Amino acid sequence: MLSQGVITAAYIGSSILFILALGGLSSQESSKRGNYYGMAGMLLALVATVFGVVTGNFWILAIAMIAGAVVGLILAAKVQMTQMPELVAILHSMVGLAAVLVGYATFLDHSHPLEGVEKTIHSIEIYLGILIGGLTFSGSVIAYLKLSAKIGGKPLMLPARHWLNLSLGIGAIVVGYLFVTQSAGGEGMTPLLIMTAIALVFGIHMVMAIGGADMPVVVSMLNSYSGWAAAATGFMLGNDLLIVVGALVGSSGAILSYIMCRAMNRKFFAVIAGGFGTPKATAGGASAEIEGDVTPIESNEVVNLLKDAKEVMIIPGYGMAVAQAQHSVRELVGKLRAEGINVRFGIHPVAGRMPGHMNVLLAEAKVPYDIVFEMDEINDDFPNVDVSIVIGANDIVNPAALDVPDSPIAGMPVLEPWNGETTIILKRSMATGYAGVQNPLFYKDNSRMLFGDAKDSINSLVKGLD
Ligand code: NDP
Repeated sequence: MLSQGVITAAYIGSSILFILALGGLSSQESSKRGNYYGMAGMLLALVATVFGVVTGNFWILAIAMIAGAVVGLILAAKVQMTQMPELVAILHSMVGLAAVLVGYATFLDHSHPLEGVEKTIHSIEIYLGILIGGLTFSGSVIAYLKLSAKIGGKPLMLPARHWLNLSLGIGAIVVGYLFVTQSAGGEGMTPLLIMTAIALVFGIHMVMAIGGADMPVVVSMLNSYSGWAAAATGFMLGNDLLIVVGALVGSSGAILSYIMCRAMNRKFFAVIAGGFGTPKATAGGASAEIEGDVTPIESNEVVNLLKDAKEVMIIPGYGMAVAQAQHSVRELVGKLRAEGINVRFGIHPVAGRMPGHMNVLLAEAKVPYDIVFEMDEINDDFPNVDVSIVIGANDIVNPAALDVPDSPIAGMPVLEPWNGETTIILKRSMATGYAGVQNPLFYKDNSRMLFGDAKDSINSLVKGLD
C-alpha cells in the first residue's frame, strides 16, 4: 500500500503529464510526443490508484482491467481510420455509463453516513453525476448510430422540440429538489430514477435534432460532456485526479466545440438547442436543380494541366479517408514538387468525420507540415492557384453554403477553389456528401470531374507524371 504522500505526488505528476499531453496535441509536430505524455500520465495514475487507493476486491479489479485491456487492444487493432469517429462516440458513451453506475453505487452505499450540509453536497454530486452521465451516454449512443450510418443522419425536427427541451430542463430541476430533500431522510430512489429517464430522453432528443453538417459540433460537445461526467465521477468517489482530468477534457472539449461552431458560423447554444440553421432550410435547398453541365476529364489530361501549373492546391475530404489515398497523395506531392511546382494543402475544419481527420491522415503519410494550411489561411489565395485538386471532398467545397440561403449548409464557410483557374474533382459518382446537398461546384465552367476511386485516380496521375 502506497502512503498518502506518494499517491498525492503521483497524482500531481500525472496531472502535469496530462496537461503536457494536451499542449502536445495542439500541433502536428508535437502530437506524437503529446500522446506519449498522455500514456505515461495514465500509467502513473493507474499504478497510484491500484496500489494506493484500492483497498480490496483486487481479483475483481484484475479481471475487469484484463477484460478492458483485451477489448481495447482488439478494437484498436481492428478499427479502420474511417470508423474512428464512431469509435470515439461509443467510448464517450462508456464514460457516461460509468458516471451513472458510480452515481447509483454511491447512492446505495451507506458505509460512510453523512449529515447536514455534507449530505446535501454529496446528494447534489450524485444527482449531477447521473444527470450528466445519462445524457452523455444516450447522446453518444445516438451519435454512434448516426456516424456509423445505422440510422439516418437527418435532423429530427419535432414540432414542439424547444418546449420539450424546456420541460425536460424544468423537470430535472424539480426532481433534483425532491431528490436532495428526500435523500436527507435516506430516501430518494424514485426521483433519481425519474431524473435518469429525463437525462436519457434529453440526450437522445438533443443529438437526434442535430444532423447533417452540424454533426462535428455534436462530436466535440459529447467529448466535453464525457469530461464533465468523469469530473462528476471524481467528486462522487472523492478522487482528485479524476476531477482534474475530467475538467481538462471537459474544458478542452468545450473550447473545441466553440472553435467548430465558429468555423461553421453557427451559434453554440443554438446548435445544442436543436438543429440550428435547419429551420429556414427547405427540401428545395437540398435538392434544387442546378443549371450547367458536368465536364468529365481523363487522367492524362489532368497530368498535362499539372505539368503546366505553377501553383497547385490540394483539398482533401472524407473520400480520401475512404479510399486510403493519403500515401498516394504524398507520392503525387513529391513528384509535383520535384517539377518545381508549389503544392499546398487547404484543410477545412470539418473535413472528414472527426476534428483533425485530414491532418491525422496527412501526418501518417508524412506530408510535410509546412505545406498544410487551415482554410482561413489560404482561402484568399485561390485566384493565384492554377489547379485545385479536390480529393473526395464535397460539402466543404460547396458554393451553395454561400449562395443558397435556404440550403441546409447555408452560412457555413467553405473552401473556394472555383476562384482559381481549374478545379479537378476526384470522386466516384455525382452522389452528395454527408449533408445530402447537391453541389453546384461540379457544374461550373472551370470544374472537371475525374471519376473513380480517389486512390486509383491519384495513382494514375503519379504514373502519368513518371
Ligand atoms: P463529404 O461527406 O461531404 O463528401 C465526401 C465525398 O467523398 C462524397 O461526395 C463521395 O462521393 C466521395 N467519396 C467517397 N468515397 C470515395 C472514394 N473511395 N474515392 C473518391 N471519392 C470518394 O465530405 P467532406 O469532407 O467534404 O465534408 C465533411 C462532412 O462531414 C461535412 O458535412 C461535415 O459537417 C460532416 N461531419 C464532419 C465531422 C468532423 O468532425 N469533421 C463529424 C461528422 C460529420 P462519391 O460517393 O461520388 O465518391
